[in-house]
Amino acid sequence: MRQSQLFTKTRREAPKDEVAKNAQLLIRAGYVYKEMAGVYAYLPLGFRVLEKIKNIVREEMNAVGGQEMIMTGLQNPDVWKKTDRWDDEKVDVWFKSELKSGGEVGFGWSHEEPITEMMKQYLSSYRDLPQYVYQFQTKLRNELRAKSGIMRGREFVMKDMYSYTTDEEAHKKIYGSVIDAYIRVFDRVGLGDRTFLTFASGGAFTKFSHEFQTISDVGEDTIYVHDAKKVAVNKEVYDEPVVYEELGVKKEELREVKAIEVGNIFDFAGIKSEQLGLYYKNEAGEEMPVHLGSYGLGITRLMGVLVEIFADDKGLVWPEAVAPFRVHLVQLGTEDEVKTEAEELYRELTGNGVEVLFDDRDVRAGEKFADSDLIGIPQRVVVSQKTLTEGKFECVDRQSGTTSHKSLSELISYLTHA
Ligand code: ATP
Ligand code: MG
Repeated sequence: MRQSQLFTKTRREAPKDEVAKNAQLLIRAGYVYKEMAGVYAYLPLGFRVLEKIKNIVREEMNAVGGQEMIMTGLQNPDVWKKTDRWDDEKVDVWFKSELKSGGEVGFGWSHEEPITEMMKQYLSSYRDLPQYVYQFQTKLRNELRAKSGIMRGREFVMKDMYSYTTDEEAHKKIYGSVIDAYIRVFDRVGLGDRTFLTFASGGAFTKFSHEFQTISDVGEDTIYVHDAKKVAVNKEVYDEPVVYEELGVKKEELREVKAIEVGNIFDFAGIKSEQLGLYYKNEAGEEMPVHLGSYGLGITRLMGVLVEIFADDKGLVWPEAVAPFRVHLVQLGTEDEVKTEAEELYRELTGNGVEVLFDDRDVRAGEKFADSDLIGIPQRVVVSQKTLTEGKFECVDRQSGTTSHKSLSELISYLTHA
């Protein structure tokens, strides 16, 4: 993509009311637009990052047998009344409205209830099970505090998966597979070493849930990590002795850190199915409640966490797997030979399947470099009068700052084989 055609522009200052580093940088670099507190639009660069993250998650969910679909944003209150979650006292993040034709309507903040209600039409026999469904959905939540930028939105994208199985044993199998899939997702986006499977409270339904917590100073949660076992305990269940039996760890071996929840998975057993009336007939012909598992992963929050963790004092730094482009091709100077060379390299790279943001704008070198640092694409390749005389292009790694000089063929083989 040509930067001269990109409608967004970088800006020196973030909005005064924006306190979170992730949103400040994303706004300044033109990845997101702030509509109001906790509500952000994703612009071309930000959209590309989100799609990259979604595709990684999609691949891993498909690999465990997930079927992608999409539920509605508007929700029927009756379904939520059956599980006693329509009440604002029970769920404090509801956005609700009224239909012109009469009656209330809810704005989807979660989807366990509507999906389980829907499944009553399709699941009735043990032969119909197991089923795993998932979606990428824009959730709407009336969050009281929205000061963490895109990490806590009033509107945000979540991947939510639901497993419908016959019993505990079948549930455990898929639950374990999803844990492994989540571990792969966090590895692939570059957060594997600092993301911990964490014992947390199960809320109203179960004793425990599992969270995936990424260590970060800006995290809202306190967790106790066990480095050798790569597991953690959320402070909210720290005092429950049973936790330590399950983990087999001693308390003294745990380290207290701040962390941010990037995923949360629940075992609802048969409770929700009983409340909503989702039963199947087993082989003996008996009616049994379907076992439900629920697996959330915050897509936009994950993007915010990546910014918080990898950004430096010059701007964003994207891990390769989620970067909007692989290469930032920067043309310095507007002389004919520089222009021709840059255009040729752009064609050559894109022709080889390399995603390139081509800074073909007629602006000062200093501004181009500052913008390039702010935007944070993994590799910067500079074409200038100087690189032309040398016959090699200057390549700068955004994360390490390492500079190297590569010929066209070296560059192509480096970018297409890495
Ligand atoms: P939190 O404890 O942070 O409020 P939650 O427990 O309410 O989150 P879930 O309902 O389990 O979150 O949602 C699943 C995932 O969606 C979370 O693990 C998180 O990654 C993401 N998420 C939840 N709330 C938000 C939000 N307001 N903005 C962005 N992402 C969110
Ligand atoms: Mg949670």
